[in-house]
Amino acid sequence: MIDAALPRLLAALLCLGLLLLAERRWPFRALPRGRWWPNLGLASLNAGLLALLPALSALFAAHWAARHRLGLLHWLALPDWLALPLAFLAMDAAVYAQHRAMHHWPLLWRLHRVHHADPALDVTSGLRFHPAEALVSALYKAAVTVLLGAPLAAVLAFVLALNLGALFSHANLRLSGKAERRLRRLLVTPGMHRIHHSQRRQEQDRNFGFFSPWWDRLFGSYQAAPLGGEATLRIGLDSGPERPAGLAELLRQPLRPDPAPPASDTMLGQCKTPPDSKP
Ligand SMILES: [Zn+2]
Repeated sequence: MIDAALPRLLAALLCLGLLLLAERRWPFRALPRGRWWPNLGLASLNAGLLALLPALSALFAAHWAARHRLGLLHWLALPDWLALPLAFLAMDAAVYAQHRAMHHWPLLWRLHRVHHADPALDVTSGLRFHPAEALVSALYKAAVTVLLGAPLAAVLAFVLALNLGALFSHANLRLSGKAERRLRRLLVTPGMHRIHHSQRRQEQDRNFGFFSPWWDRLFGSYQAAPLGGEATLRIGLDSGPERPAGLAELLRQPLRPDPAPPASDTMLGQCKTPPDSKP
């Protein structure tokens, strides 16, 4: 199997460094200093945990499925030019569905709300996931990879795109309206994903995509702009602390009985779509 861990780590660090520089140059909001450390602490824990469990990685799953000729795309024996983009798109759709499930089911929401409890957004928010969510997510991606029979090259490209896309979509970046509109045809932008981090419940149930914006548009969960405009958009959880929580507090958060999301309309095809204004 191709050992892609080092190139992936280098690409993520390069992207992180470039986005940190861009955030300093074109910040969307002024943010307090020192808020990075709990997020980076979680990222380090997750990296260490997943490094100890290589069999949970999607790349390992792709290699294993190819060796045993398992999964839909292996059975269909499609040519690479078709199998690679199909696998990439299917995995992106699967991650979109996973994100909706994280908001819908109270037990999963307990894990995912650690990500949403960040009272501000910057590139480090894209690394802020509870280790239990990181494990669930790794297991899910590995299972999807095997069921699809996704080729190794497609999985490698997807994992890289997802990691870099998560960093970009959480960045504290001010893009011009023109850049937002153009990028949103292909990518989830910071302006689009910021709405998902709103304290308003109905906005949290929008813009679930992490990499491509197409699934939100297709399944009716796309929202172009905050309901009351950017000035009224408050980030985080209304039940959460205003100050950034420490690492130990973040690790304990899933055990706290915060109000779970109402058993609402967050599953596929059941979303009420607000007015789809520009961009
Ligand atoms: Zn979410």
